[in-house]
Amino acid sequence: MSGMVIVGGGQAGYSIASKLRAENFDGTIHMICSESSLPYQRPPLSKRFLLGEMSEDRLFFKPKTFYINNDIILKLGAIVTYIDRAARKIYCSDGTELSYKKLFLVTGSSPVLFPEMLGGALLKNFYLRSINDVKLLWNEFKFGKHILIIGGGYIGLEIAAIARKKNLKVTLIEAQDRILKRVACSQTANYFTSLHRENGVKIIEGERIIKLIGEKGTFVGAVLSNGEKIFADFSVIGIGAKPCTSLAKNCGLKVENGIMVDSYCQTSDNNILAAGDCSNFPYGSSRLRLESVGNAIDQAESAALNALGHCVEYKAKPWFWSDQYNTKLQIAGLSLGYDKVVVRRDKKALSNWYFQDKKFIAVDAINDAKSYMVAKKLIELDKSPVEANILNPKMDLKLLLTSN
Ligand code: FAD
Repeated sequence: MSGMVIVGGGQAGYSIASKLRAENFDGTIHMICSESSLPYQRPPLSKRFLLGEMSEDRLFFKPKTFYINNDIILKLGAIVTYIDRAARKIYCSDGTELSYKKLFLVTGSSPVLFPEMLGGALLKNFYLRSINDVKLLWNEFKFGKHILIIGGGYIGLEIAAIARKKNLKVTLIEAQDRILKRVACSQTANYFTSLHRENGVKIIEGERIIKLIGEKGTFVGAVLSNGEKIFADFSVIGIGAKPCTSLAKNCGLKVENGIMVDSYCQTSDNNILAAGDCSNFPYGSSRLRLESVGNAIDQAESAALNALGHCVEYKAKPWFWSDQYNTKLQIAGLSLGYDKVVVRRDKKALSNWYFQDKKFIAVDAINDAKSYMVAKKLIELDKSPVEANILNPKMDLKLLLTSN
């Protein structure tokens, strides 16, 4: 049986290949990816790359020579269509067949599509997931044009910020009663709602889009649940992502909101591992699927080590960031299930500290690198700070790490 085969060339795929070589694995490594670019980082797509301030080659994790020098066989622009688990073989859209000793599924996630019957298939509806998506968007990102952003999650908000920087007229529609409802507390959401409104974004919350209006097959506007019609030049749809699991499902692996893996990144087949956005892994007493760079790197590296025969348990330490205008949001921990938020203000810095049953679980630090660093450490140490200390702007936060 031959070496390692990696399906997917995103953050997790790249991290697996590099880790295998860093650990001196000297067998064959194949990495197959449906995209035709060298493996690249996605976060700048909705930030500096969309703004046009970052060149394409700076998105790539490594230049082509890295793969050549490390004997990582890259197959770009090819889709893996089938896995024969009994024969330990994969089949690609171009007819290639490869045998594997260990197979890594790192197929990522893809945007949730707006329903076709409601106008989702109209021209000038855009999504933002890949370099090619940004290139298509660039044609529309012109001074004075009106963009309708559907969805007030981080990607929608980042696109709004870039659009304002480029002097577009921006309307953002959020179906929930506030933006960031799924991922952040109202204090964090309120901060960003105000920031965007101050920068000229029209945010409409609590209204669903009933349908998108088309003329000759092209998007021209939307009808909201309150009957209001909004006309715009193009739309960007950011209503979430779903894990890419069809390959896993079709070969009989266990799939439930992601490819089910154990704490060792092992799927229901001993020779197949999964990591990154596409995987669903144990987290405390429940399960979790994360869409973040931090998770993709850490889980992928654990998967690589486990495929080499180590026994490394993956314990997720969630972190995330978002850049909007001149504001940097840094998130440590997971705020799911919080019952209290303590707000710390220190001059221009703001941080929202999440608690569940008095246990400190997460922080949203806004232009506040110090709170982020300390909070991240506290979560790792499983320490819960006293509320009065967080509230006190004179308190040196680093002391929280050493106090009982
Ligand atoms: P992906 O990066 O999605 O890579 C999977 C790859 O597999 C894709 O190239 C796909 O085409 C390929 N593939 C799928 N199926 C097949 C198949 N059958 N055959 C061959 N190839 C296949 N995270 C943060 O932490 N901070 C941020 O600020 C942030 N910003 C983001 C902004 C944008 C616009 C986007 C889209 C994501 C952002 N994320 C951010 C999320 C982060 O980029 C992802 O969590 C991360 O890229 C996941 O890596 P992955 O390798 O699991 O999946």
